[in-house]
Amino acid sequence: MKGSKPQLIAEGKRIDGRGPADLRQIRMEVGVLKNADGSAIVEIGNTKVLAAVYGPREVVPRHEEQVDRAIIRCRYRMLSFSTMGERKSPAPSRREIELSKVIREALEPAIISSQFPRTAIDIFVEVLNADGGTRTAGITAASLALADAGIPMIDLVAAVAVGKVDGVIVLDLNEIEDMYGEADMPVAAMPSMGKITMIQLNGVLTPEEFRYALRLALDGINKIYSLQKETLKKKFVEVEE
Ligand code: ADP
Repeated sequence: MKGSKPQLIAEGKRIDGRGPADLRQIRMEVGVLKNADGSAIVEIGNTKVLAAVYGPREVVPRHEEQVDRAIIRCRYRMLSFSTMGERKSPAPSRREIELSKVIREALEPAIISSQFPRTAIDIFVEVLNADGGTRTAGITAASLALADAGIPMIDLVAAVAVGKVDGVIVLDLNEIEDMYGEADMPVAAMPSMGKITMIQLNGVLTPEEFRYALRLALDGINKIYSLQKETLKKKFVEVEE
């Protein structure tokens, strides 16, 4: 529960020691699940997310199939032990249902679904440990898992949140900053296409703050995108050797 607001910025540093434009430490790995067609783990600071992709596969129930494309389905879930304070209820919450839709919509523009008519591509995002930015880590991980599954895409999708804490625009908010900050703006993009596929804003930013925050988010996204590509290349090099 929300207590009294802690000081979030002191002498230009954030509560975890980062500068305003710094990402948390990131680790990525693909092909972590044998039974999935594609999978990935993304860790960003203490947030840890697992994504699994199955398909293209037969559509069940059949009436959902589309004659001209694959349907994309997504389920985002937080494990009950993933949260800091109280254990999260295992029942699907409204937030999880909404985030499942948000993540799907952020990924859909990248997927060339017309290549697989009458099939389904199922994406599962499981939050193993939550410390802010789970939807954005989920998008980054799911995009890697789609690539790992060999699903054709026009680009990878990478995502990160920006926000405003103690009046300062910061990149990649942790849970405390998300909870007590003035604004939180998750962004997802296909960097080499120069296209934003998701942008949400919770809180208030001035037009200048918004423009700066978006630039900061896109810089962060470019760094995450480079790591995604490196991670995928590493897997293929390892397989070839
Ligand atoms: P995001 O994880 O994308 O930042 P939110 O802004 O909704 O999404 O959540 C911010 C953070 O608050 C989460 O990353 C998580 O650390 C925490 N959180 C969200 N929902 C819950 C919950 N039901 N129980 C405990 N912590 C939660």
